[in-house]
Amino acid sequence: RVARDPPKIYRLDESVVNRIAAGEVIQRPVSAVKELVENSLDAGSSSINVTVKDGGLKLIQVSDNGHGIRYKDLPILCERHTTSKLSTFEDLQSIKSMGFRGEALASMTYVGHVTVTTITEGQLHGYRVSYKDGVMEHEPRACAAVKGTQIMVENLFYNMTARRKTLQNAADDYSKIIDLLSRFAIHHINVSFSCRKHGAGRADVHSVATDARLNAIRSVYGVSVAHNLLEVEASDDDLSSSVFQMSGLISNCNFVAKKTTMVLFINDRLVDWTALKRALEIVYSATLPKASKPFIYMSIIVPAEHVDVNVHPTKREVSLLNQEIIIEKIQSVVESKLRSSNEARTYDEQM
Ligand code: ADP
Ligand code: MG
Repeated sequence: RVARDPPKIYRLDESVVNRIAAGEVIQRPVSAVKELVENSLDAGSSSINVTVKDGGLKLIQVSDNGHGIRYKDLPILCERHTTSKLSTFEDLQSIKSMGFRGEALASMTYVGHVTVTTITEGQLHGYRVSYKDGVMEHEPRACAAVKGTQIMVENLFYNMTARRKTLQNAADDYSKIIDLLSRFAIHHINVSFSCRKHGAGRADVHSVATDARLNAIRSVYGVSVAHNLLEVEASDDDLSSSVFQMSGLISNCNFVAKKTTMVLFINDRLVDWTALKRALEIVYSATLPKASKPFIYMSIIVPAEHVDVNVHPTKREVSLLNQEIIIEKIQSVVESKLRSSNEARTYDEQM
């Protein structure tokens, strides 16, 4: 073969870079909802309301009663890498907020049209401003507003034809959004959540702030789930320092479902941990004769320095120290809980 000159390397246009990155952070409408709701939680809200049109492709609107956004910050609000939550890399080690990268709002403006309405404490009126490709489209306009922030994302992926095509099935993402809000609602029980389709009178998720997790689970997942749960707890601080603490509610031997529901929070972050889910499914099928798929809610707390939150663009996964120890311990606690509840039932039936 004849050797050829290597192709010339160009520097990509910033707008191209931003749109590519945005497509990773905001993979589908439900990812935008997750980022917006997490921002509302970070803002200290006690009430978060979501409205969705066309599975989120036409409209996503999240309203909260949090601390709002300062007028002076509005010009850079939707630029990439602007955040109020992190300043040094080391802060990541102890970060308590869901957000830290300052990319979510920016990303939404690169793949959709974003309008923000916000008011801060003590102000007589709020401001409304729209953004496209990271920048304000006009000066913020004074407007009437109630406490907090409302963010509207319209025409998501209008400029990404392939993405839009693969997301045509609106019902699919609406159910993912409902599922997401249900998960948040049973963890953040001091916050009231609602989610509805645009124009619908009835909300499909509706939770009221409560002291008891079981109440939240009942109002979100229904009586049949709430009726059949066992409390579990596990921890491991045998070594010189604490490894983890877990508390949760798991379905008992009377519960019947075709699919596993695993709602997991690690240090208050909603995450997927497939290895733990599999491990618990194994315990269920080995311990309960009916072998129904479980419903599992778990909150795991580990020392901040044991978790790396920066391993996934959507923050859907985290990387943990001592994974095997944690899984083993939780497995054995769940197994003995299931055994004793199953024996109690068998005993009842024989009486
Ligand atoms: P991050 O959450 O990683 O900081 P975002 O792009 O999601 O990045 O948000 C950028 C900033 O905008 C946040 O740091 C926060 O200061 C502000 N913000 C976003 N949403 C809200 C909200 N609902 N209420 C108050 N401030 C918000
Ligand atoms: Mg955020």
